[in-house]
Amino acid sequence: MLSPFADVSPKDLSPLDAVSATDADAIGDLVDRARGAQRAWSELPAYERAARIAKVKDRLLDRAAALAALVSREVGKPEAEALLGEVLASADGFDFWCGSIEELCEPQEIALDKLTYPAKRGTIYREARGTLAVIMPWNFPVALPLRTLVPALLAGNAVVFKPSEISPRSGQAVVDLFAGLIPDGVLTIAQGGGDVGAALCSANVDLVVFTGSVATGRKVATACAERLVPCSLELGGKDAAIVLSDANLERAAQGIAWAALTNAGQNCAAIERVYVERGISDAFIARLTEVVRALEPDRDLGPLTTHAQQQTVMRHVADAQASGAEVILGGNAGEDGYRYPATIVKVTSDDIDLMREETFGPVIAVRVVESASEAIALANASKYGLTASIWTKRASHGESLAHELRAGVVTINNHAFTGAIPAAPWSGHGQTGAGITNSHLALEALTRPRFVLVDRSSSKRELWWYPYTPALMKIGLAMAALRSGSTGLLRKIGAVLSLLGAFPRRFR
Ligand code: NAD
Repeated sequence: MLSPFADVSPKDLSPLDAVSATDADAIGDLVDRARGAQRAWSELPAYERAARIAKVKDRLLDRAAALAALVSREVGKPEAEALLGEVLASADGFDFWCGSIEELCEPQEIALDKLTYPAKRGTIYREARGTLAVIMPWNFPVALPLRTLVPALLAGNAVVFKPSEISPRSGQAVVDLFAGLIPDGVLTIAQGGGDVGAALCSANVDLVVFTGSVATGRKVATACAERLVPCSLELGGKDAAIVLSDANLERAAQGIAWAALTNAGQNCAAIERVYVERGISDAFIARLTEVVRALEPDRDLGPLTTHAQQQTVMRHVADAQASGAEVILGGNAGEDGYRYPATIVKVTSDDIDLMREETFGPVIAVRVVESASEAIALANASKYGLTASIWTKRASHGESLAHELRAGVVTINNHAFTGAIPAAPWSGHGQTGAGITNSHLALEALTRPRFVLVDRSSSKRELWWYPYTPALMKIGLAMAALRSGSTGLLRKIGAVLSLLGAFPRRFR
């Protein structure tokens, strides 16, 4: 069988180490083994799990240079980007989750009305969901898996993790960080392509956490629907940046250049569309062009990770040009099959793939608009809705406009970096999917609530138990009258009298 794995570095086409694929037929056994290990792991106190996983963070940091070099070689991003975005940002996630998991999973007693529910105590426990499949893409091959693995494991789950076939070595390096610190079977890697991912979704897992493309996300959702298990989907994006005429020009140009081009634009939250108000558009485009022109290939901007990605970017730019868009900078693909220069395209319509489909490359499409409301309408017209940004010196105006945007994250005068803030939820609208990564809200998927009610009542029966006598009907109607805000005083008095008469008959 043909190897599913990427085998050359996009940086210099040098060969990458061989990787063995997991047999798709063996996935069921891997999941069973994980399930076998999960219970004892979940029964450890949360502080014990946190103490072990905190040591994983130290390993991550101790291996920072080697990890950055590996990621850079495997997927092509500059080492500085790998160090900051994959290693250091992930360390923050360990700190947040190890420091908060006990409190976030603390049992919570609910308030119960003593008259209606006498002698009862109800407690919500947040328990591990069980055995999870975690299926990840290649664009952040260390940071993205860790964003889910750390809280998932801390919450007491076992995980079978499938990295992308484009970044299997980085995936293995992530799993190696945990080796010996958590029990065998609690975290297992499954290496391979779509067949292995599909086998994992159909195996006996309790939740699939998936990050990747819309097309694959749909298959994952279908497989989960067949098994009636939940899935958390974080899919594509087509982020918009809105530059208002009162923006800080320099900050907007620098920030948009970074947020569009980091990781060669292969970021779900890359700025792919810029809507700039006419009043500042000439100055903005001129300054953006200068900033982007000053970037150094390799130091600042790596190659695309795959040849297929280069083809998509070429197609989107060529289509845009054919429709009359103006390429202001860049636009010529490298001959190695991976490189693509930082490119700025001025467009006049959104009716082209460059403005509608995910490009996932180093291309900034800029469109001049007449007003903030036009920009917001265009930004919201996308089928995606991950993050968006507004650039303005009137921060509170930007903040109020934020609520008009159809996006899971809105940043004023910044973009995309909040994925690295572990306390901030990361989620989307539309085809971006409804999964939530980061923050206490991520625990909604990674755990399940168990409600336990203890009844210390010694009365022989409850009000609502059998038999359904006329006295019970009277009590019910009196209670309805008493609880309704629109019942008049006289009717309320009547209801109280009715209750006083019916109660002794009910319990006689
Ligand atoms: P992809 O969908 O091709 O692959 C993602 C993963 O799914 C890989 O591990 C792959 O092997 C696996 N897979 C393939 N077929 C499968 C199947 N039938 N069942 C189960 N798993 C299967 O995506 P990609 O190219 O690796 O990643 C790029 C995409 O990820 C982009 O669309 C990007 O926007 C998105 N992404 C989204 C976020 C987010 O937070 N929303 C973050 C990063 C990337």
